[in-house]
Amino acid sequence: MTTPSLTRPAQGRVNVIFIGPPGSGKGTQAVRIAVRYRIPHISTGDILRAAVKAGSELGRQVAATLASGGLVGDDLMTDLVRARLAQSDTAGGFLLDGFPRTIAQAQALDDILGGAPLIVVLISVPDDAIVRRLGNRRICESCTITQSVSEASDGQNESCPYCGGRLVRRQDDEPGVVRRRLATYASFAEPLIAYYRSRPTFGAIDGLQSPNKVTAALVAHIDSHRTVAARD
Ligand SMILES: [Zn+2]
Repeated sequence: MTTPSLTRPAQGRVNVIFIGPPGSGKGTQAVRIAVRYRIPHISTGDILRAAVKAGSELGRQVAATLASGGLVGDDLMTDLVRARLAQSDTAGGFLLDGFPRTIAQAQALDDILGGAPLIVVLISVPDDAIVRRLGNRRICESCTITQSVSEASDGQNESCPYCGGRLVRRQDDEPGVVRRRLATYASFAEPLIAYYRSRPTFGAIDGLQSPNKVTAALVAHIDSHRTVAARD
């Protein structure tokens, strides 16, 4: 077991954003990093749901936008993120997931941070590997646990090792659907990567490694940049 320790290392705010395709393991890594640095894992989905539930003025705008089938625009999304980042649990930093998604949002985030360091991590996995990885994923019809099946068997005759239920592939994990999801990802991620790539705090991590190695690489990247920030 080589799960990294939960001990909080040296001082310094940890403001992190993750960029990575569906199937890159970004969600798993986000949870680990948030726990390790004791920072909130803030996803835009959670922000939108919380705003609607709270019934604030911004929440009413979100509800109206979503009800009309529209996308929440840059200005509204930015206002929501600004309000979320003003909450006291972000005193030690934050991990933002799903924001920014546009250059306008990235510029707004720089503005919100007012020069505070932002660590940007790209978890990079080639498209073919994602299609293969998600194609091997099955969900149990009975207990809903998600698991991988071996490529050789193609999962045809496998049953759930936990409850014996039937393993099925989610519609979202079908190769054609995955290719479309990857194209959507590329259309917003490529401009963002270009926006951040020249910064010293930008790091690209090989997401083909084992999850524990990806975590170790993330921690090494974050620690090297927060140390620099703490000295300033
Ligand atoms: Zn099962």
